[in-house]
Amino acid sequence: MLLVENLQKSFDGFIAVSDARLEVEKGEVVAVIGPNGAGKTTLFNLITGQLRADSGRLLFKGENISGMPPYGICRKGISRSFQVVNIFARLTVFENVRVSVISHNKRTFNLFSRAESIAVSETEEILKSLGFSEKSDRISGSLSHGDQKVLEMAIALGNRPELLILDEPTAGMSPEETRDTLELMKLLSRERGITILFCEHDMELVFSISNRIMVMQHGRTIIQGKPDVVRNDTHVQEAYLGGADERF
Ligand code: ADP
Ligand code: MG
Repeated sequence: MLLVENLQKSFDGFIAVSDARLEVEKGEVVAVIGPNGAGKTTLFNLITGQLRADSGRLLFKGENISGMPPYGICRKGISRSFQVVNIFARLTVFENVRVSVISHNKRTFNLFSRAESIAVSETEEILKSLGFSEKSDRISGSLSHGDQKVLEMAIALGNRPELLILDEPTAGMSPEETRDTLELMKLLSRERGITILFCEHDMELVFSISNRIMVMQHGRTIIQGKPDVVRNDTHVQEAYLGGADERF
């Protein structure tokens, strides 16, 4: 579904992502791990078009999407959430998701009125599937941090993505909220068939859900493989898993 080939990105001579390679198969849940500053967010920004790579290639379902703007990439079926919550704080939960559903349907249907009526049922369906229906009328800015992160996921789903990219989906969450988010990710993957690429500091979550893990350090891809292979890699163990989880 996604192929990242030798992507490179520098900021004023500082190499933030160097020769990144990653393969994501349809239906997989793939984690990117690595300490702060490793280049995880930059990699996601390159994939979703927020940043343009200096070199390398990005293929989505076999199509070269390198250099496409974010809206073009979103239209192809890649949605994302951000490390820093990105919602319309003064709109209700329902309105936030509906904006995204309408924006997606306007591309599918030319008549706005048609898109509008479909949007209501689609929005309700997304909120229901995330167990969020009862919070539908809440002003988004008044939600807890954990709920705002879930809302971001709901907004991303409004685009009916095939590939969902989540940048630290559980950052700042309580253990309960983290568990709920893990369940939500499983639901999206198993019941909706959405392919997920995410980065995350919670190693328990990473190893419990991922089909494949990519480890980054100083912009470089250290290893990419099945959880067992990554877990047993000596370098990864020494650097990150030997009781040094807090470094993530
Ligand atoms: P991570 O998400 O793994 O914590 P980032 O991708 O945010 O890492 O950052 C990787 C490196 O690139 C860091 O050293 C960061 O300071 C640098 N960096 C990220 N974005 C920019 C930018 N827009 N301008 C300059 N440096 C940046
Ligand atoms: Mg980051």
